[in-house]
Amino acid sequence: MNYYSAPIARLIDEFTKLPGIGRKTAQRLAFHVISTSNEEAQMLAEAIIEAKKSIKYCNVCTNITDKETCNICIDKKRDSSIICVVEGPKDVVAMEKTKEYHGYYHVLHGAISPLEGIGPEEIKIKELLARLTNSEVKEVVLATNPNIEGEATAMYIAKLLKPMGIKVSRIAYGIPVGGDLEYADEVTLSKALEGRREL
Ligand SMILES: [Zn+2]
Repeated sequence: MNYYSAPIARLIDEFTKLPGIGRKTAQRLAFHVISTSNEEAQMLAEAIIEAKKSIKYCNVCTNITDKETCNICIDKKRDSSIICVVEGPKDVVAMEKTKEYHGYYHVLHGAISPLEGIGPEEIKIKELLARLTNSEVKEVVLATNPNIEGEATAMYIAKLLKPMGIKVSRIAYGIPVGGDLEYADEVTLSKALEGRREL
């Protein structure tokens, strides 16, 4: 049973699809949007479309960027012997905030999760392997989240990289098991990086 007119119901449905937004919040947001001026509503809609249109994947690390190659990958001052593999763009931000890491990144855009039907093909593992072939990379740090999916992904990648003669390490647990990298504070995260162990 729908109490709202079709356009409002549609708006509420769209907001409900956003992460962390339940039905009640979606209703509040929808009513907020319709109470704003036409210009404000227009600006919100345009910001969404513009962000979606202009953002692409870096052709090296697959992080999101508005250029062909992202700012980190074009920075020649970084240590090209090490790549830190993370699940998402927000994890790159978390790692950068530690100011302890000076290598490059690779963004997987997810983690292996058989339960959700996400296999190795669905995330950017192929791209990582292509990058590592004939490269000067000596170490790959697996900084996927310390939960079941993140562990499975780290193990899977470690198995693939071992025969390539690359040192593979896993960040240590200062980070709570089951936690999310993006929510770890800078000190915890830099300790976890420091204490990484070889796989
Ligand atoms: Zn990049």
